[in-house]
Amino acid sequence: AKRLRLDRLLSNMGYGSRKEIEHLARVGLITLDGAPLSKADERIAISDDLAGRMVVDGEPLDPPPGMTIMLHKPVGCTCSRKEAGPLVYDLLPPRWRRREPALSTVGRLDKDTSGLLLLTDDGGLLHRIISPKHHVAKRYRATLARPLRGDEAIIFAAGELLLEGEDKPLLPAILEPLSATEAYVTVTEGRYHQVRRMFAAVGNHVEALHRDRIGQLVLPESLAPGELRVLGATEVALII
Ligand code: URA
Repeated sequence: AKRLRLDRLLSNMGYGSRKEIEHLARVGLITLDGAPLSKADERIAISDDLAGRMVVDGEPLDPPPGMTIMLHKPVGCTCSRKEAGPLVYDLLPPRWRRREPALSTVGRLDKDTSGLLLLTDDGGLLHRIISPKHHVAKRYRATLARPLRGDEAIIFAAGELLLEGEDKPLLPAILEPLSATEAYVTVTEGRYHQVRRMFAAVGNHVEALHRDRIGQLVLPESLAPGELRVLGATEVALII
C-alpha cells in the first residue's frame, strides 16, 4: 500500500494545514485503531479500511484517496469548475472540495439534465469509464415534446445517425419507449448534448432528460436530488 506522512495525508484530504494537523496530533485528537497518533511525520499506509480505523477530532476519517461517489445531480447546476454557480461541486461537503487529488466529475451532464453523476479522485478509473474504447452504457429517460413516430428505435440502432454539424455517425444506441412521449435511450458515447441532438435529428425535442444508469450501476430511488453517497468497491465494479 502507498504510504504518506500523517500531516500530508490529512492536509491533502482537506483537514487543514500541515501545522494544524501537527497540532491535532500533538494534543491526541488523531487516533488509529484507538491509539493516539502523536507524530505528524508518522507514515500511514493508505488502505480502504482507514476510514473505519482513524478518528480525527472525534469523527471517523473521510474516505482516503481512491474515493468515488455518486451524486443525484439536480437540474440547474453545472458540471464545471469555472462557470458562475451553482456548480455540482457546491453540493460536496466543504472539506471534500479542498481534497488533493481533487474529486472530478466522470464526464458531464448538461445543466438541464438530472440524474446519476459520478465523481472520483482516481484518474485511472475516470479514464477507464470515459474512454470511448470501453463503451460504458449510459441510460437516459427522455421526456419528449412530441409523440414518438415509431421509427426512432430502428434509426438509433442502425448506427448511422449523423448529428447536425458532425461527420462521424453515432454508434448504435437503444431506444425503449415508455409511453407516447417518454423513452429510455442507452448510449455508449458521450458527445456534446448527444441525446438531445439525437431526438432533434428525428424531428423531436427533449423537454426533460434524466440519467438513471451507468454500466450496471443504477441511481437508487432513495437518493434525492442533490444528495450523494460514497461507493463501495462492489458498486464501483458495476460501472465497468
Ligand atoms: N445527452 C444530452 O443531451 N445531455 C446530457 O447531459 C447527457 C447526454
